[in-house]
Amino acid sequence: MILVTNNEGTLGVPTTARLLADQAAALDAIEAGIRLIEADPSVRTVGRGGWANLIGQIELDACLMDGTTLRSGAVGALRDVLHPVSVARAVMQRLPHELLVGEGAARFAREIGAEPAENLIEDSRRVWQEWFDTTLTDAQKAAWPHIDLAALCRHAIDPEVGRDTTVFLAQDATGSICSGTSTSGWAWKYPGRLGDSPIVGAGSYADTRYGAAACTGAGEMTIRCGTARAVVLYMKKGASVADAVMEAVDDMRALKGGLISRVTIHAIDPRGNHSVVAVNGPGNNVYWLWDGAGEPRRCLAVAVRL
Ligand code: ASP
Repeated sequence: MILVTNNEGTLGVPTTARLLADQAAALDAIEAGIRLIEADPSVRTVGRGGWANLIGQIELDACLMDGTTLRSGAVGALRDVLHPVSVARAVMQRLPHELLVGEGAARFAREIGAEPAENLIEDSRRVWQEWFDTTLTDAQKAAWPHIDLAALCRHAIDPEVGRDTTVFLAQDATGSICSGTSTSGWAWKYPGRLGDSPIVGAGSYADTRYGAAACTGAGEMTIRCGTARAVVLYMKKGASVADAVMEAVDDMRALKGGLISRVTIHAIDPRGNHSVVAVNGPGNNVYWLWDGAGEPRRCLAVAVRL
């Protein structure tokens, strides 16, 4: 058994590790851990308490993947729901689809009785309002919201650079490997923008035979490189988990233009090995490792630059 989560997973790690130790299925253990983080407004990049998009709304993304069936369930740009990860789970269990977004995802959430929530907490509203007051011209304010958002998007500054999506990778007692992600996405994003977190193959991928990977940071980069799928495929082709992640980092060197920023890649293999590499990060990227015994422990990611 193994569990790897990033620093944003701190609130969920003890629960997920305990459930795995009690022989819970990886998917159940991951969902339970992520739900705790989504509901806690102190984690400003996941669920309730996250940062708003350009028009002051919280749009949430989440994904679960079962590496034994290769089924996934994901939601993107979902509003007003407390637990996007559980709506993602229901997509996997109840629909012949893998990904729902926007209004359709919200409709499905209502249909399954998902818990509603006001995810924009007062502090996130205040920070967005300050951005609005100080960034927009009087003419833009007067015309709001019927203005050109694209230009604003380019000048948007993330209020919490260095904080991320939460990602969970786990192998349970039966050997099954699963992945999970949940996020409010890049702050001040264009409405409707999906990052990598709900995109299977980019932000996460799990295959019980070869391993799993999940990414945080600039989702635009991992979408373009298909990073999570690539890591698992490199392992299928015989690479160690550490070499597979480095190969995926190397893929990013071909990116030209667009948003080039920082990314952290997390990966596990079926033999209990793992690798976490922070690309272009500040160099102190912490993650959690539970190796099937004892307490989860904090570790430091390998830092590389493109
Ligand atoms: N990967 C997420 C996204 O692109 C954001 C993050 O992890 O910081 O939406």
